[in-house]
Amino acid sequence: MAKLNVAMLAQTSALLPDNIEEVHAFWIAGGSCDGCSIAAVGATSPSVEDLTNGTIPGAPKVILHHPVLAVNAGESFMEPFRLAAKGELGAPFVILCEGSIMDEGLAAETGGYWSGMGSDLDENGDPQPIPSSSWVTRMAEHAAAVIAVGTCATWGGIPAAAGNPTNSGSVMDLLGEDYRSSLGLPVVNIPGCAPQGDNITETIIAVLLFLHGIGPLPEFDELGRPAWLFGETVHRGCTRAGYYEEGEFAKQHGDKECLVEVGCWGPVVQCNINQRGAINGMGGCMNVGAPCIGCTMPGFPDSFAPFYQTPPGTVVSSNISRVTGSLVGNLRKMTQASQNRTNKWNKDGNVPSGWGHVAEPSVLEKVAHFAYEKLQFKNSPKPGSKVK
Ligand code: SF4
Repeated sequence: MAKLNVAMLAQTSALLPDNIEEVHAFWIAGGSCDGCSIAAVGATSPSVEDLTNGTIPGAPKVILHHPVLAVNAGESFMEPFRLAAKGELGAPFVILCEGSIMDEGLAAETGGYWSGMGSDLDENGDPQPIPSSSWVTRMAEHAAAVIAVGTCATWGGIPAAAGNPTNSGSVMDLLGEDYRSSLGLPVVNIPGCAPQGDNITETIIAVLLFLHGIGPLPEFDELGRPAWLFGETVHRGCTRAGYYEEGEFAKQHGDKECLVEVGCWGPVVQCNINQRGAINGMGGCMNVGAPCIGCTMPGFPDSFAPFYQTPPGTVVSSNISRVTGSLVGNLRKMTQASQNRTNKWNKDGNVPSGWGHVAEPSVLEKVAHFAYEKLQFKNSPKPGSKVK
């Protein structure tokens, strides 16, 4: 089957019927720490409550079936899963997968299972757990969309790290490249360990609005990531990027400068954590002093380990920044010092501040600044000068 691109997606995806007012969302947890669930319920824009209360104009109300958040339990909780797996739910649904897909064949060799939910009776009439991976394959065929939430579900994540005793993989690994949902979508991937909650809920609502014929076609990259969320690197949105540019680097954790030399992979990692923050616009790795360890990337964790060591290639790039940045930074400091003075203070040769003594520029600094200004305003009029 040919790979799907955005144009084909628009053609192949059917839309939800106009009169659909409710869409079911089934949360299935594989090898996970539940961090993605915690992240999702922390979302604010939109919140899980916005989705489940149907308060977003044009979007169908979401009926959430979550093993931790549900108020019902036992067979009354499992029944909608069973109906959805048979294609008999009678309403459109999406599945949200959290955690890696573990090799249940391995567990079965010793009579166990890795992760599961509910049970079926075996040939002896004994209840046997239904593995999470089995739920995913059973339900994916009928789902309007399959959304992998978090790095374990999107790429395999920590359970699939070197050694990988459970032979873990991703939802894409399980369903294969030819998988398409009932409405024509390949697996949608929202990586992050854990992803920001808003990245989860925003993607869900974007997909629902599109499938409902109201929203524009959301753009996904070749790995099924929402392109508008994962198209840029951490570094480009980092509040410390100015320090990087001027060649100023943190020597230890807690320093305010760029964290690249204490292990930040931000220049190559695709993630919007710095712009979006962790919860409600607050926090976010570099914003609170943590170097990026690449948790949204398919190579995580092995390709980024050992953590908190200077990433390869940094010696070249940070030393280039040191050389060019120290020159540019010093020129900026010169301009900054002159812009911190009024014309009157310059004329008087004194800053009348009661807060502290402001040193007058030395003769050498005045000469350097004069020459630099000539260069700065070579092709543009100096502010306050008469335009000829
Ligand atoms: Fe880039 Fe990381 Fe430095 Fe931020 S802390 S500027 S992301 S290298």
